[in-house]
Amino acid sequence: VFVSFEGGDGVGKSTQARLLGAWLGDVLGREVVLTREPGGTDLGRVLRDAVLHGDHVAPRAEALLYAADRAHHVATLVRPALERGAVVITDRYLDSSVAYQGAGRELAADEVERLSLWATSGLLPDVTVLLDLDPAVASERLGRRPGQTLDRLESAGDAFAQRAREAFLARAAAEPERWVVVDASATVEDVQSQVRVDVAARLGL
Ligand code: C5P
Repeated sequence: VFVSFEGGDGVGKSTQARLLGAWLGDVLGREVVLTREPGGTDLGRVLRDAVLHGDHVAPRAEALLYAADRAHHVATLVRPALERGAVVITDRYLDSSVAYQGAGRELAADEVERLSLWATSGLLPDVTVLLDLDPAVASERLGRRPGQTLDRLESAGDAFAQRAREAFLARAAAEPERWVVVDASATVEDVQSQVRVDVAARLGL
């Protein structure tokens, strides 16, 4: 079982992914692998640092660095885990590239998607959970996190975040059999309850 979490910065993806992982592991009695993009592997962490903390990265170079991270992540971590029967939950996957490098950075979304599908040999999640939240509320949450410094993209601005949000919602609407959309404005516990209900329904649990 392969599940991805998507949504803007500060919507609670990593918390919700961890909670869903613990629950799915219990329900299915299977190993759970929690991972993330960018940066789910050693090479990925180098690429993450280059793309998020480098000075200027040209948009096409940025798209290729994310694709390289994803190709290596899928080949060395995600596919092997799925093949041994594990539940894999990733905090971001290829829809982030379409939303950010496509809509956000104004590359052609269909080209970014093709690049990602090439990078992953076409591996798509069984379920993608979109945690949807107004970027203004999300950035307030991020601002309140103690000791946190914003990376290059988190400080890139509201219009960018808004375009990415709309791109995620449009993708979810276009492919409803893969996506569930959860309102992320509620408490952690309430969001998690809704995520469990929707994921269970989608997986037929
Ligand atoms: O979710 P996480 O904090 O790991 O994301 C790091 C940053 O990378 C975020 O600011 C996110 O917007 C950005 N990102 C991106 N394109 C991707 C994945 C993440 O611009 N494909």
